[in-house]
Amino acid sequence: MLTLENVRYEQDGFVLAADFSLEPEARVAVIGPSGAGKSTLLALIGGFIAPQRGRVLWQGQDITKNAPSARPVANLFQEGNLFPHLSVYENAALGVNVSLRLSAAENERVMGALERVGLKGYEARKPAQLSGGQASRAALARALCQDKPLLLLDEPFAALGPALRREMLDLVGEIASEHRRAVLMVSHEPRDAKHFAQRVIVVADGVAEAPRETAELFANPPRALKDYLGDG
Ligand code: ADP
Ligand code: MG
Repeated sequence: MLTLENVRYEQDGFVLAADFSLEPEARVAVIGPSGAGKSTLLALIGGFIAPQRGRVLWQGQDITKNAPSARPVANLFQEGNLFPHLSVYENAALGVNVSLRLSAAENERVMGALERVGLKGYEARKPAQLSGGQASRAALARALCQDKPLLLLDEPFAALGPALRREMLDLVGEIASEHRRAVLMVSHEPRDAKHFAQRVIVVADGVAEAPRETAELFANPPRALKDYLGDG
């Protein structure tokens, strides 16, 4: 279980507070207005920024001061996920070993992840030789072979069309279930959140709210969500 305990992050007048726990093996969407702090929330969990107050806990252990690599977390960002000069295989392998000198077991993990995302046979290609969907799959393979129990996705498929995005969300959902991983995904598409997530965290007005059951939340949205959906 991931816990944000009285977390408060502040910079240049921007404030984000969070105080909640996240069940393991949950698919959770993070939604809210642009600039509300969705990426900031993920950065706090991933360890790229540090809160001024509060603690981040994983299975009861304080990881607030752990470097990103020493956290139970794999990240997938919207932009710049692939290095253009590296092959698909190498781009994925970076998730396992940044030296790219892989053991046989590590190599198997990379090949397994590439196969799982449907890129078997594409190992030698460069990112420029991939479609948008294939590039997303390659980036996902890197996150997968990191073998971390919590996957943080920050609008990773925003550049894809709706059908392809849905396909990728389904793939992430399937993989998360197979490997019993939790997924926290920022989305600016309420429909994607409904489709993908069991629970939703609303980020608005300086607060990342505790996750709420998706259907219940959309059936009875708080004001911040109504404003965001534009039907309030
Ligand atoms: P969201 O992901 O919900 O759109 P962010 O977490 O990126 O929001 O941004 C939260 C706040 O932090 C905003 O006020 C934004 O302007 C500010 N911010 C985001 N990134 C940076 C940055 N690299 N440097 C300074 N301020 C930033
Ligand atoms: Mg963002």
